Amino acid sequence: MIGLMVQNKIRLFVEQELYNGNSLVVSKKEANYLFNVMRLKVGDHLHIFNNNNGEWLSKVTEKSKTTGSLECLNKIADSQKPPDVWLLFSPIKKSRTDFIVEKATEMGVAKIMPILTDHTNTTRISKDRLQLHAIEAAEQCGTNFVPEVVDLKKLSDVLDLWSKDRMIMFCDEAKKGSTEILKNSKNSWAILIGPEGGFTDHERIRLSSKNFVQNVSLGPRILRADTAVVAALTLWQSSIGDW
Ligand code: SAH
Repeated sequence: MIGLMVQNKIRLFVEQELYNGNSLVVSKKEANYLFNVMRLKVGDHLHIFNNNNGEWLSKVTEKSKTTGSLECLNKIADSQKPPDVWLLFSPIKKSRTDFIVEKATEMGVAKIMPILTDHTNTTRISKDRLQLHAIEAAEQCGTNFVPEVVDLKKLSDVLDLWSKDRMIMFCDEAKKGSTEILKNSKNSWAILIGPEGGFTDHERIRLSSKNFVQNVSLGPRILRADTAVVAALTLWQSSIGDW
């Protein structure tokens, strides 16, 4: 069995194209992970994947402290794209924002969009750091798809440019709306979760005026934003996603 040849099921997300015989140069960060942390040696095997070519078996062909190379051998799995759902969320405290990105990746989203709302209290987010969290979550949870984390955008700008064929499941702590609207929906979706301070009336009015927005309640209690992300994705995935 091919799987038995892989030490500790190491899975590495790579940017490079993957095809039989391709040789991949290992970055400094990857070299540290593979050779210092995971102690891989020349000749050892690991799984590598990217968003387009699926998951491949590879072999370490060269190593040093700061770099190395991998040879791409054979394909193990096709790319597993998640269903067409995006997560729009307002950044909160650093560790909780990291949690949101990690859980959204594990639960399966196609894109992660940090959103600036009236009550967002953190505007300094590092997109690159959040992207690394998404990569690590994908490496660990067995999916071979990493959702893109895009730049922080204002909610009003996002609504202005929104493509009307994607519905927004607006998770409204005012507890209006039912998840019935998900039943039999064939649309593409985005889930919108607000900050700790919730949405303002102005934002609620603006959102309600759009016919691509559907209010949804996540139950009678007010959830923290990070809990709300997990709850909303669970509902969406189990109603019309790939669970
Ligand atoms: N400070 C606000 C709560 C914000 S909770 C208040 O006390 O009213 C953070 C976000 O989680 C909300 O903006 C909403 O998107 C989501 N959320 C939390 N509880 C929810 C619920 N019961 N129904 C729908 N969305 C909820």
